[in-house]
Amino acid sequence: MDCPKCQANMEEHRIGTLHGGVMVDRCTKCYGMWFDIGEAERLKDKWMSDYIDSGDPSVGRKQNKIRDVNCPRCGKTMEKLNDPVQRHIQYEACEEHGMYFDAGEFTDYKYETLMDIFRDFVSLVR
Ligand SMILES: [Zn+2]
Ligand SMILES: [Zn+2]
Repeated sequence: MDCPKCQANMEEHRIGTLHGGVMVDRCTKCYGMWFDIGEAERLKDKWMSDYIDSGDPSVGRKQNKIRDVNCPRCGKTMEKLNDPVQRHIQYEACEEHGMYFDAGEFTDYKYETLMDIFRDFVSLVR
């Protein structure tokens, strides 16, 4: 899969959680991260971003300005979403496939907040 922001190759990483492994695609160049919807929902208790979100936040901030991106799975333009509390965090989502985060954005997130927003978003479009 290609990174929707910089078109570099994305590599799959497996994160171990209490509920089993979760697959995350991470860009080899800008370290942006893609979560498939089903995968993100399997992250239940513990936030594992420390293990995977190892990109340079300054690169992430630059990539954060690229907001017109297409879903790497279906090619549709993704929705631009903001965290209502932490407004500096902006991410992109495809309602059918998943979410894309720039490097460093994930670490800022409280997991519960993230999933609340995403569920609201998914129920809104369905
Ligand atoms: Zn990239
Ligand atoms: Zn899609």
